[in-house]
Amino acid sequence: MSHSISRSNSEKLFQKAKTYFPGGVNSPVRAFKSVDGNPLFIKRGDGYKIWDEDGNEFIDFCASWGPLILGHNHPAIYRKVVEALQNGTSFGAPTALENELAELILSRNPFIDKIRFVSSGTEAVMSALRLARGYTGRNKVVKFEGCYHGHTDAMLVKAGSGLVTFGESSSAGVPAAFVNETLVLPLNDEAALRSCFQQHGFDIACAIIEPIPANNGLLLQGGEFLKTLRSVCSEYGALLFFDEVISGFRVSFNGAAAYYGITPDIITYGKIIGGGLPVGAYGAREEIMSCVSPDGPVYQAGTLSGNPVAMAAGIAQLTVCAEEGFYQDQEKRTKAFVENVNTYAKEKGYDFEFVTIGSIFWFNFDGKKNITRADQINPDMSKFKQLHAFLLNNGVYIGPSGYEVGFISSVHNPEILKKAAEVIKQGLDHVMAE
Ligand SMILES: *Cc1c(COP(=O)(O)O)cnc(C)c1O
Repeated sequence: MSHSISRSNSEKLFQKAKTYFPGGVNSPVRAFKSVDGNPLFIKRGDGYKIWDEDGNEFIDFCASWGPLILGHNHPAIYRKVVEALQNGTSFGAPTALENELAELILSRNPFIDKIRFVSSGTEAVMSALRLARGYTGRNKVVKFEGCYHGHTDAMLVKAGSGLVTFGESSSAGVPAAFVNETLVLPLNDEAALRSCFQQHGFDIACAIIEPIPANNGLLLQGGEFLKTLRSVCSEYGALLFFDEVISGFRVSFNGAAAYYGITPDIITYGKIIGGGLPVGAYGAREEIMSCVSPDGPVYQAGTLSGNPVAMAAGIAQLTVCAEEGFYQDQEKRTKAFVENVNTYAKEKGYDFEFVTIGSIFWFNFDGKKNITRADQINPDMSKFKQLHAFLLNNGVYIGPSGYEVGFISSVHNPEILKKAAEVIKQGLDHVMAE
């Protein structure tokens, strides 16, 4: 049964943090607003476990929102990072480590010839959008409702009302003139896609999509819509931009592009690529990348870009990910975990299913299965909130929002996944009984 855990240290830290940071946090979802609670302050992580400042222990499925595919404090990453640290933290000059991480990525990647390292997913998207515009000489970009691409102005746009594809800004401070250059379409809607391109196709620099939309529920598109998107972009000379910040190195080493066998023109990476340190990247074929400064006219730079300590963490992590069978094993353990819970929910007749791909999962509290668009998500998150509270009280940590996905790491062994599944099943009983 549920028992409340002690949170007094976290609560004190949060009160203090609120005097320093807006909402007490440095990234909004951490504030626990969507689950009506106060955040736990995390002190330490090891393997699949994390401990908060009150000494409570959790099985962690947040994984720092995806980067930690090998879990916390992985020995190979630890060793490589310490080795890099001993040589200094930053030089603002090239290092061999940048070559090493690039080689690890590019030698296996059939989609991109060159890459540029930056320091976050947002920065990667922002830079790659500029590149798409610089390369094509066009201004408009297409994005899809329900995909998240970081907080660059052009991407803080949501669908407007009615049938118009011109969006509205989803944040104060984004000029209308910027928003007018972003066209917003529903996911998995071929008719809307074709009609938008018929109207604006030759002004469109790129269509950006999370090929596996995993920042607003898990809205699996399947291959068909993505293939159509590929062909429509080609027809109009627009670039297809896969934002693989979450799916890259997650569903396969080469992300959703390899998973679905679709060749995009531009790809962004982040999260896993940095092994838990801040790294983002964008890449494309040679012809497109040659537009980036200093080779070409599209300017982009970074004081800490290719930071040696962050490169070291990325190298260590991706070296493990590149091992034979890594992703099959991830998927196998995730499937068993997800099926365990789904079978139970079905037996009990609960309106709940775990949606999954690769080693990602999402709690869908809705009778509707196989949803592919943002407007199909059940906006009533009350059941998620109750489940979230139950899981926290029983040693399972998931992201504090029903729109966020969970992640299985290589350290979540079958035993621990079984244990977590039992807690989730009890949680469902608790939540669904009301
Ligand atoms: C996380 C994410 C981003 C933003 O990355 P940050 O490192 O948080 O700036 C962009 N696109 C996608 C698909 C993401 O999942």
